[in-house]
Amino acid sequence: MNKAFVREPDDTGTAHCPRCGSAGTSVGGQTLDAWLSPAARKTLPDRASFCPYPRCEVVYFDQFDRVVTVDEIERPIYPKHPSAPLCGCFGFSLDDIEADLAEGGVARTKALVARAKTAEAHCLTAAADGRSCVGEVQRCYMKLKG
Ligand SMILES: [Zn+2]
Ligand SMILES: [Zn+2]
Repeated sequence: MNKAFVREPDDTGTAHCPRCGSAGTSVGGQTLDAWLSPAARKTLPDRASFCPYPRCEVVYFDQFDRVVTVDEIERPIYPKHPSAPLCGCFGFSLDDIEADLAEGGVARTKALVARAKTAEAHCLTAAADGRSCVGEVQRCYMKLKG
């Protein structure tokens, strides 16, 4: 194969946050439409990145380092606000995981994972990074469990 047509490893679309340097999660126009005010939406193209670092004020950024920060978005955003729902679909938050752990069970977490696989879930617009909440929920469960 002609090397000129092979994409370079850097060209996979992983962008890094201009403020904190975290690897961004790529997000599309539908997610941005759901989260941004019309004015903020105009500052970003249909393909931008979400900064997942909790303490960074940048929520979305694009390849030209244009950013939308936490104070420009009216809703609480996980993980920028730790008490915000992990995913807006069902309002599941870290409190639910903690309640499960306090009981020594997995009832709430298990129910969420099952529900998130149904057509009721709309993570593309309900989660700030547009990703399914299942992976994050499971990761948080394991982390809190220690
Ligand atoms: Zn950042
Ligand atoms: Zn969801």
